[in-house]
Amino acid sequence: MINLVDLTVKFDDLVALDSITLAIAEGEKVAIIGPSGAGKSTLLREIYKSLSTSATLVHQQLALVPQLKVFHNVYMGRLNQYSVIQNLRNLIKPNKKRHSEISTILASLGVAEKINSPVSQLSGGEQQRVAIARALYHGGDILLGDEPISSVDPHNSELIMTKLTSMEKTLIFSLHHVDIALQYSTRVIGMKNGTIVFDSSPELVNKQQLKDLYEPC
Ligand code: ADP
Repeated sequence: MINLVDLTVKFDDLVALDSITLAIAEGEKVAIIGPSGAGKSTLLREIYKSLSTSATLVHQQLALVPQLKVFHNVYMGRLNQYSVIQNLRNLIKPNKKRHSEISTILASLGVAEKINSPVSQLSGGEQQRVAIARALYHGGDILLGDEPISSVDPHNSELIMTKLTSMEKTLIFSLHHVDIALQYSTRVIGMKNGTIVFDSSPELVNKQQLKDLYEPC
């Protein structure tokens, strides 16, 4: 489904991805880990660009509209599926069915009580959950996330990862928290200096590999 072959990405002289070859099958739950600057975001962007089927990418910059309520921000995930009239009407008086669908998604991410709050009043972790909710409301078979839970507290991180990994979707997340990556993914990719230094099931990742991954060169 995802197939990158010998992919190199440079920014001027800087090699962000160094001849990466990577195949990811449908339904895999992949965690990408590694130090800052390893190339994780660039890899996620390249995977997203390569996809012809419907995929959503939750960016680090969440692209939410701070003045609008959580409800409207999540609704934006389907803006292009409804008519302009429906969208305008919904802005003034939320449609009951949409309200209930969105509230169910927010509840599954532990943020239901914020549905009527403007995004500007939410914490960083709550905003990340709204961005995930918008991606889920959008639908699609593949969910990509660039450190999508970096500001979420441990309890809610577990709730979110349990929810997301129980879905049939293919998940590809870069994750800051190694323990979450090891616990919830079916495959862990370690990146450093634009290369994949290991790619294995979480049970096979050992302490030395993790130490080498995060140790400065
Ligand atoms: P990570 O997500 O692992 O922190 P990135 O993919 O963001 O790593 O970045 C990989 C390397 O590419 C870094 O050295 C970063 O500074 C560089 N880089 C990323 N995006 C750009 C850009 N738009 N312009 C120049 N350099 C970039």
